[in-house]
Amino acid sequence: NATPHGIPATLIPGDGIGPEIVDVAVRVFDALGSPFAWETQQAGLNALEKSGDLLPAETLDSIRRTGLALKGPLTTPVGGGFRSVNVRLREAFQLYANVRPARTIIPGRYDKIDLVLVRENLEGLYVGHEHYVPIGGDPHAVAMATGINTRAGSRRIARFAFDYAVRNQRRKVTIVHKANVLKALTGMFLETAKEVGLDYADRLEYDDRIVDACAMQLVLNPWQFDVIVSTNLFGDILSDQIAGLVGGLGMAPGANIGEDAAIFEAVHGSAPDIAGKGLANPSALLLAGALMLDHVGKPAQAQKLRDAIDAVLATDSGRTADLGGGASTSKFGDLLIERLRG
Ligand code: NAD
Repeated sequence: NATPHGIPATLIPGDGIGPEIVDVAVRVFDALGSPFAWETQQAGLNALEKSGDLLPAETLDSIRRTGLALKGPLTTPVGGGFRSVNVRLREAFQLYANVRPARTIIPGRYDKIDLVLVRENLEGLYVGHEHYVPIGGDPHAVAMATGINTRAGSRRIARFAFDYAVRNQRRKVTIVHKANVLKALTGMFLETAKEVGLDYADRLEYDDRIVDACAMQLVLNPWQFDVIVSTNLFGDILSDQIAGLVGGLGMAPGANIGEDAAIFEAVHGSAPDIAGKGLANPSALLLAGALMLDHVGKPAQAQKLRDAIDAVLATDSGRTADLGGGASTSKFGDLLIERLRG
């Protein structure tokens, strides 16, 4: 089912609102004259129902071949020992960098926010090395978790963040850590990232912050930050905080990037409460599509898409219900396509 010409890219409709917003994305990308030739593949709950696997081999093969995917949200069934498909994808393709830009589109609590969080995606406290130690009659008397940061992994994510900053004409990188307490685990991350920063000192400013102070500063004066690079756990928390500064997860795109593959997605989930009702806001997925265009060297098309999204969202009639408007999912798509063609 691949379109014959263009850059092959895997398209995963996903679950819940996924197919509705992916449908809009495909129509919008057509109107934009996007370079992608989509290869539609399944993952998530609907894949489990059809093939007995949340992440079928054909889907993995397709991503291995294309090295690129735009992914709708996936429902992870609760219980039954299911591992998150997102974590499986990250590990399968060694997607070590998670990039989450946050930009004010609709002025709200904070105006003129323009931040990018780069999170290490494979190491730290999320490696899943956890166990209990029994004492007396209590099998769960003590819980333990091991965090693992490697110098190579820290260097790789720091280099990614500094390169990203240079490529995107950013001015500063802030290294976020907790080296005063987790002296080995995040001290090594800080030391390594600072060493990497020296190589960029002629082009970029860089500094560092302890994570708790950074969280407070993000609320008091977020404009002082530009690109933030952090370890897995801190990056996870701060990236949602940053999404909150610009109106929540509904507007937040994310990219998971490795050496051989990159997967682009909305940060939100499958929203089962509104699935099938035409209420879903496709903005986050479309903004993820813009990141994907940047990634394949099409920044002009990416910017055209972002400008069109901004313009439609600037009108009351262009907003979906989550933003207090009356536009349906497909109506939002129609307005965007009109703007792109106009
Ligand atoms: P959710 O993000 O799906 O929904 C939270 C709230 O935000 C809901 O009220 C929902 O209606 C609303 N919402 C989310 N996206 C929206 C959009 N585009 N437009 C309008 N409203 C939107 O989070 P949840 O309910 O905690 O999770 C539901 C399922 O999604 C779970 O199975 C979870 O595992 C999965 N999930 C998947 C991903 C992913 O694939 N990347 C991420 C998060 C959650």
